[in-house]
Amino acid sequence: MIPPGQECPRRLYAEPPLLPILILRLPATRRHDREDSMAANPKPVDPVSTFNKAEQLLQYGHYESAFDLYFEIRNAGRMAPLAYYRMGQILNRRGQVDESLDCHRAAFELDPLLSRSVTENDHPCYDYRYGFVEQTHITHCPLCGQEGRKHSCYNAITKPDFTPGFDPIRLWMHCDACHHIFASNYPTDLGAVLRSHAHDSHLCPRHEVFPALGRILSNIRKRTPGNRLLEIGVGAGEMAAVAKEFLFDVTGVDIRPAYADAVSRTLDIPVCACDFLEFEADAPFDVICMGDVLEHTTEPVRMLLKAISLLSPNGVLWISTPNFESAYSHLMEDDSPLWRACEHLNYFCYRSLKSMLESMGMDVVDYAISRHCLGTMEITAVKRVAS
Ligand SMILES: [Zn+2]
Ligand SMILES: [Zn+2]
Repeated sequence: MIPPGQECPRRLYAEPPLLPILILRLPATRRHDREDSMAANPKPVDPVSTFNKAEQLLQYGHYESAFDLYFEIRNAGRMAPLAYYRMGQILNRRGQVDESLDCHRAAFELDPLLSRSVTENDHPCYDYRYGFVEQTHITHCPLCGQEGRKHSCYNAITKPDFTPGFDPIRLWMHCDACHHIFASNYPTDLGAVLRSHAHDSHLCPRHEVFPALGRILSNIRKRTPGNRLLEIGVGAGEMAAVAKEFLFDVTGVDIRPAYADAVSRTLDIPVCACDFLEFEADAPFDVICMGDVLEHTTEPVRMLLKAISLLSPNGVLWISTPNFESAYSHLMEDDSPLWRACEHLNYFCYRSLKSMLESMGMDVVDYAISRHCLGTMEITAVKRVAS
């Protein structure tokens, strides 16, 4: 977080900016807006031109000056939800998490169709309507059980992979004891929400990632002569397909039946459509891959322990997951889209994940930066042989 008043010159060149500028999308002020704003302010203010001016200031990184203008039009009729939305972002940048949360809530309460004002009309969430969703709220760290403190707050609705059933307002917590970041809220019936919603984009394999996955599997191949490979969370099947090309004997698991069925059919491999915690295997695996899975679970410790229990001695565990201490995250700060990934419930860093794996009987043998997911780390660990 940059302290208030110390605007970072990088913002002038930031790509992308905090959010695409909203100017031009707004029609000229209607009469009632002007009346609303006059009631709230002693001097007449044109809310639309004030908003546009604030957007320009924001684009050039002058977010404190922009904040004052948004604040001025916070009661200005149809401009109010957008003003609260922007104030929510700026307050988060200032580190005022509670106030940011209040503003993001106010924005949606004033306009449940806020998404139409902050996304383009071809955005998957353009028609999203804000409403009550049954949520579980947690305050304690899912890794070590210590109480967390509020870390940051984001509105996730602008991210194209937003999943209905999640609350678009994400409050992140930080655990000072083990240095882990976790979501304070998630759908109470998380499994049902995930099973009922498959993202079209995740059903289409991304062919451009094959070379990067090939390098990963080539490195794994050097560490084990064994052939039995389990992939947890097959998604569109890219990793499983490349593993098959490397002559691994591949088994998959995915909580979403749509993904499991599609990958099983196209690759002709067994893919169990279930929660990994319920998955059963009749023999251990030489390799287990968890690509972008661990951040999605409410029980990361149980998931890791189970994966390790399914590994043969000297078996290889390969994990990829976003790292909030990555070079990308450090330089992107609150612009990083990873803060707004609604299905991410955990945000790891290398040191906490490494020490957890070591405490579970694994030796971390490699760390790499993902070649195809910005801000994501790749950890390779080998199961110690009990002496
Ligand atoms: Zn912790
Ligand atoms: Zn993920």
